[in-house]
Amino acid sequence: MNQTSKSESIQKAVKLIQKSQNMVALTGAGVSTPSGIPDFRSSQTGLWTQNDPFQVASLSAFRYRPQVFFDWLRPLAGKMWKAQPNPAHIALADLEKAGYLHAIITQNIDGLHQKAGARNVIELHGSANRFACLKCGHSFPGEDYIDPFIRQAQIPRCPTCGSILKPQIVLFEEMLPAEAWSAAEQYFEKADLILIIGSSLEVIPAANLPYQALRHGARLIINTLSKTHLDGCADILLPFDVITTLPEIAAMLL
Ligand code: ZN
Repeated sequence: MNQTSKSESIQKAVKLIQKSQNMVALTGAGVSTPSGIPDFRSSQTGLWTQNDPFQVASLSAFRYRPQVFFDWLRPLAGKMWKAQPNPAHIALADLEKAGYLHAIITQNIDGLHQKAGARNVIELHGSANRFACLKCGHSFPGEDYIDPFIRQAQIPRCPTCGSILKPQIVLFEEMLPAEAWSAAEQYFEKADLILIIGSSLEVIPAANLPYQALRHGARLIINTLSKTHLDGCADILLPFDVITTLPEIAAMLL
């Protein structure tokens, strides 16, 4: 695509956003890779070339081979803990603040949308910044545990019962958190414009959420470098880098 058609597409996207009453965004790994976070779940990326995901990132690994599980998690958690939001996260937070964006539904677990200032973020795959005790059901903010875990490989334990704490991320063999899922469904039911940002829409069931909005006539903008199964339904395709495209869109709207 040449420069003219790129800026034309961006202008069309801006017009659609201006006309919308209820825009929601679905974000995936592509919004966080510019912040140095590897794609957590995609089987095509480096994270899984050394490890079989079911051996390391599954609920059974956590329960029966916690050392293997935490050894796998540690470098990833270290990257997430250090990472800073990039211009794409900031542009989305700005669009929310300005009232254009009603919710960010994300497949990411890094908390970078919130770090960028976004408030209404629904985390479909949980968050690496919280831990839970599966025995007593309590949930703990990550601050107290992440540093000793990353620096000294200290496996986090429940202060009440001593059980190993589980990061509140959705592992293989686990269901998506029900509350987040139903909130996401409600946003997609009401949305009149969907932004797909940095997601190739390969991870089910999140990838099916846009259908709920498309069924009642919502418009669709896709800003993702790779192809997706919804490209044919999109009003506007923006196959460009999210960290340049979103700020450009936000600048035209704000
Ligand atoms: Zn406990």
